[in-house]
Amino acid sequence: MRIARYAHDGEVAFGVVEGTVDSPEIAEIAGHPFGPIEFSGVRHRLADVRLLAPVLPSKVVAIGKNYAEHAVEMGGEAPEAPLIFLKPSTAVIGDGDPVAYPASSSRVDYEGELAVVIGRLCRDAPASRAADVILGYTCANDVTARDQQAADGQWSRAKGYDSFCPLGPWIATGIDVADLAVSTRLNGEVKQNGRTSQLVHKIPELIAYITACMTLLPGDVILTGTPAGVGPMQVGDEVAVEIEQIGRLRNPVVAR
Ligand code: MG
Repeated sequence: MRIARYAHDGEVAFGVVEGTVDSPEIAEIAGHPFGPIEFSGVRHRLADVRLLAPVLPSKVVAIGKNYAEHAVEMGGEAPEAPLIFLKPSTAVIGDGDPVAYPASSSRVDYEGELAVVIGRLCRDAPASRAADVILGYTCANDVTARDQQAADGQWSRAKGYDSFCPLGPWIATGIDVADLAVSTRLNGEVKQNGRTSQLVHKIPELIAYITACMTLLPGDVILTGTPAGVGPMQVGDEVAVEIEQIGRLRNPVVAR
């Protein structure tokens, strides 16, 4: 199932993307997708709605250096325990929304990542229960002001600018994410090409580690880390993160 959040005629709703490739439609969900899904009976052509970020998380928990080759390109090794940091909810944007390049940085990078969307409140969740708390998966871009990441010594500002967390285009449920291709294209050119099987710390372990610290709420998002090949974007570029079985998240880069 593909669960999207969208705007139509000034109303915002969740819906399930259905229909054929040639004429995709969206079936409106009555309420929210965190629990048994009921449909309102309203349907739209997908072309007639504007997709929004698929969730509005209370927090985005991101994992640093979770692919060995990316850890090497950052000048180190993958840490023994997951390295977690937070991106503010206000950084979240959806498919097609612009990444706003701040004047305070001269080096803003893309980081294509698999994102996990949490489906139910969980605290001290064991790894064995991970499947029970996951709603689904989406594409993410952990946009980073690389110059400020180094200069600040911690990452809140570098990774926390408005628009620095594109998510979308929708949440794919019921898929096996053990070995999916994750790629990032800049203006159509492939820059990152990894597989989720290369994750150092796997998703069940991440959920156990994170929820041993903080409660995750429905709609919270975990960014699982980026493969090798990170690099800079410029104003005027288009960045696209594509994950097999999920879809493609595209965002233009504009000056803030
Ligand atoms: Mg990252």
